[in-house]
Amino acid sequence: IPVVALVGRPNVGKSALFNRILGAHTAIVSDEAGTTRDRHFGRAEWNGKAFWLVDTGGIVEDSPVPMDVEIRKQVVQAIGEADLVVFVVDAKVGAHPSDARVVDLLRDAGKPWLLVANKVDNPQSTDFYEMYRLGAGDPIPVSAANGTGSGDLLDEITDRLPEQNDELPTALRVAVVGRPNVGKSSFVNRLLGEERLVVSDIAGTTRDSIDTPTRYHGRDLVFVDTAGLRRQSKVEDGVEFYSGLRTRRAIESSDICVLMVDATLGVENQDLKIATLAWEQGRSLILVVNKWDLKEKDGKTADKFKKDLVEKVPYFEWVPILYTSAVTGQRVHKVLDVILEVEQERNKRIPTSQINEALEEMVQRRQPPQAAGNEVRLIYATQVETAPPSIAVFGNHPELVAEHYIRYLHNGFRERYGFVGNPLRILMRHKS
Ligand code: GDP
Repeated sequence: IPVVALVGRPNVGKSALFNRILGAHTAIVSDEAGTTRDRHFGRAEWNGKAFWLVDTGGIVEDSPVPMDVEIRKQVVQAIGEADLVVFVVDAKVGAHPSDARVVDLLRDAGKPWLLVANKVDNPQSTDFYEMYRLGAGDPIPVSAANGTGSGDLLDEITDRLPEQNDELPTALRVAVVGRPNVGKSSFVNRLLGEERLVVSDIAGTTRDSIDTPTRYHGRDLVFVDTAGLRRQSKVEDGVEFYSGLRTRRAIESSDICVLMVDATLGVENQDLKIATLAWEQGRSLILVVNKWDLKEKDGKTADKFKKDLVEKVPYFEWVPILYTSAVTGQRVHKVLDVILEVEQERNKRIPTSQINEALEEMVQRRQPPQAAGNEVRLIYATQVETAPPSIAVFGNHPELVAEHYIRYLHNGFRERYGFVGNPLRILMRHKS
């Protein structure tokens, strides 16, 4: 979904406007390790169109850096990631010299923008027309404080967003995610060849070129946001996007998520959070433990790595784990094989007759427990969906089937059908 970024001088009311637009929606705050800056973003919806709203925030009070430099940074970042920039000015102050410089930046960037005059608490009595002098288009008067004009602003925003294309992409979309420095760029470079990533980065001003297409065994693949991979590791102030918008967007727009960790650091809680996010969103998941060349190991290290992980997070039982070195190239191409295997599992359809046999066997071995004095009967099951696979189990009291019994069914289906690398959903449905 598209990204809308708020930019503007300090104190023009960007945060208030941000909160006003998101309303009851919760904003997500991502702390960027090593900076005092917070980035805020949240998902907004208006007129049936969804978008991410980002407050580029980030002007540090008492910063030794001149304000214009800070604003410049903010605008450049916003321009890099946004589909639409909302440029906020303060109608009470009037056109400020720094505002004019933002206009220059926006004009150079060629991204669409909207000019918003904030603090117009009473449109009749505020002279926001002065903002026309900026030559940045018609100012849209709003009051973030009392909400005046926010509906009109949202109309303008959604009018300008690109059409959302919900056609299924035919190429398999793969997002490589992980903390900075785990080796994502090195890995993707190795897979694609150095040149391709460089080329796509130079062209990286259009939407499509930040994704890199490739082909493996006749299957079209797209590595999502490869430009972002390069940018992430090269950003000088070490801005951490890991729990931020970029990773979320990449996961959201992919079929398969390749989560990369550093073998010498292991899987941290942050990594697990992002893995679970991908899993719950129905993405396929592959764990790549990179820098395996640096790991002190014997023949059992890999097995132990997996065992420890599964003990902590059971669903990793079903997640393929590969141990690679992007430096030596060890098993890097194996990841492509596993991506294709996981895709097959993702789209696999099990005939209803087989699923019913399996259900019957499982019920015979262990009856669903009675609940609240009711006999709980399971009648039949069928796979209702692929990508990710979902199996519906029909019974007389779907709401009374114990959680542990649903887990038992889940494990039973898993043992029979695998669906490796994919979340498997068990849906309890009513049938009398
Ligand atoms: P990114 O931030 O995840 O994209 O990480 P980079 O690909 O930029 O890699 C960070 C650093 O780790 C670089 O110095 C790489 O050369 C190094 N690196 C990446 N993969 C490996 C690996 O498998 N083994 C070793 N020893 N170093 C690696």
